Amino acid sequence: MPIAILVPLYLGLAALPLTLAWIQDLPRRPFPDELASSLGLVSLAMILTEFFLLGRFRSITRRAGSDVIMRAHQRLARVALVLAVVHPFLYVSPMSAPPVWDVSSQTALNYSWEGFWPGIAAWLLLAGLVAMAIARDASGMPYAVWRLLHGLVAALVAGFGVLHVLRAGRYSADPLLGWVWIVFFACAMGALLYVYLVAPLLRGRHPWRVASVRPVAERTWAVTLRPDFDGGLDYQAGQFAWLNIGHGVFSLNENPFSISSAPSAGPDVEFTIKELGDFTRSIGQIQPGSRAWLEAPHGHLSHVGHEDAPGIALIAGGVGIAPLLGILRELAGTDDPRPTVLIYGNRRQSQIVAPAELRHLAAQHGTEVEHVLSEPDETWTGATGLIDASLLRRHFDTDARREWLYVLCGPPAMLRAVKADLLALGVPASRILSELFVYD
Ligand SMILES: Cc1cc2nc3c(=O)[nH]c(=O)nc-3n(C[C@H](O)[C@H](O)[C@H](O)COP(=O)(O)OP(=O)(O)OC[C@H]3O[C@@H](n4cnc5c(N)ncnc54)[C@H](O)[C@@H]3O)c2cc1C
Repeated sequence: MPIAILVPLYLGLAALPLTLAWIQDLPRRPFPDELASSLGLVSLAMILTEFFLLGRFRSITRRAGSDVIMRAHQRLARVALVLAVVHPFLYVSPMSAPPVWDVSSQTALNYSWEGFWPGIAAWLLLAGLVAMAIARDASGMPYAVWRLLHGLVAALVAGFGVLHVLRAGRYSADPLLGWVWIVFFACAMGALLYVYLVAPLLRGRHPWRVASVRPVAERTWAVTLRPDFDGGLDYQAGQFAWLNIGHGVFSLNENPFSISSAPSAGPDVEFTIKELGDFTRSIGQIQPGSRAWLEAPHGHLSHVGHEDAPGIALIAGGVGIAPLLGILRELAGTDDPRPTVLIYGNRRQSQIVAPAELRHLAAQHGTEVEHVLSEPDETWTGATGLIDASLLRRHFDTDARREWLYVLCGPPAMLRAVKADLLALGVPASRILSELFVYD
C-alpha cells in the first residue's frame, strides 16, 4: 500500500470514533469536557490501529518499508499515550462541569466505578507498555520474552480501553459507535492472532533445514537454508525474512535478516549474519541439519519494480551488504544489462564479506566496486574514510546517473548522510531506497 493511501487510511481510522461522536449532536458540555472525550476517543482508536502496524502485514509494509512502519508504530504509541494521559485530567479541570451521576450518559459521563476501573487499568498499563518499549535495550530482557509481554500487555490495554469506553463513554453509549468499538477491537485482536497463531500454523507446512554455516568475514557468517518441502520461497532479491532456527514453529525466538541469495539461483536461501547479541553470537555453533522456519518475504529493498532505472547504485555499510549482495547476485544471475556500482564501507579489510565473490561478480557483471575503509592498515591501497559527499560525487555526479536507482543499507548515521548527499546531487527521493537494521 503506498504511503499516499496509508496516511489518509490511518487518519480516517484514528478519527472514525470522534466523527461518529460528533454527528450524534448531543448537548454540548464545557470545552474541557468535550476535549477530554475527544482525546480519549482518538487515543483509543490509535491504540487499536497500532495492531495493524506490527511490520508483519505485507500489504502495509511492501511500499512504505517495515522499518518505516515500525518507527510509525513506536512514535504513534507515544502520541496515543500523551492523549490518554491528558484525557482524565481535563474532566476534573476547574473549567469542567462538576461530575454528575447520569446513568443514561446523555448529559454527562457515567461516573461509576464499573466504568472507571477498566479505564484506570488501561491508562496504567499503557504507560507501562510504552516505558517498557523505550527501555527495552537497557532492560537486558531477552527479545522473545519482551515480545511476548509487549503483545499481552497491548491486548490488555486494548481490552480494558474498549470496556472503559463502552461502560463510561457518553458518546459510546450510542449503539453504532458501540458496535464500531467492538468490531475495531475484534479486528485488532484478529491481527495479533494472525501474527502469533495463524501465520505460524501456515509456516508449519514449509519447514527448512540448515544446509551450511560458514564464516565469510570477521565475526560474520553465511547461513544457508534448504527447503524441506517441494518448492521454495517466492521472494525478490534484497527482501528480508524472520528467521527461527532450532525452535518450534510457534516460538517467538525469531530475528529479522536480509536474504543474501538470489531468487534465480535456486531454492536455497542464504543469510549473511553478523555477531551482535545472544542469537547472532551463537550462529557458529548451529549444526547443519537443524530445523529452521522462515516468515518471509518482507521488505521493499529491491530493484524489482524499478525496471525503468537506467542503472543501479548499491551503497552498503558493514553488514548492510547482506541485501545488496542478494541484488548483485540476482543482477549477475539474470544478466541484467544495466550498469551497476557498489560502494561498500567497512572499518577494517577483514570485515569485507565475500571479497573474492565480489571480485568475481564485478568481473562477470561489469560492476564498479569501490571499497572504503575507515580504519585501514598500512597495506590498504583503496579509498579511506567514510562514504562521503566527495566520493559520491566522483561516482554519481553526472546527468545520466541521477536517474539511477540508489539502494542503501547500513548504520543509521551513514544512511542519513548518504541520503542527504544524494539529494544534494539532484537524485530524486523516489529513486532512493533504504532499510535500517534497527527499529528504534
Ligand atoms: C529488516 C532487518 C534486516 C536485518 N538484516 C540483517 C542481516 O542481514 N544481517 C545481520 O547481521 N543483521 C541484520 N539485522 C539485524 C538483526 O536482526 C539483529 O542484529 C539481530 O536480531 C540481533 O539479535 P541477537 O539476539 O543476536 O542480539 P540481541 O543482543 O538479542 O539484540 C541486540 C539488538 O538487536 C535487536 N533485535 C534483537 N532481536 C530482535 C528481533 N527479534 N527483532 C528485531 N530486532 C531484534 C534489538 O534492537 C536488540 O537490542 C536486520 C534487522 C532488520 C530489522
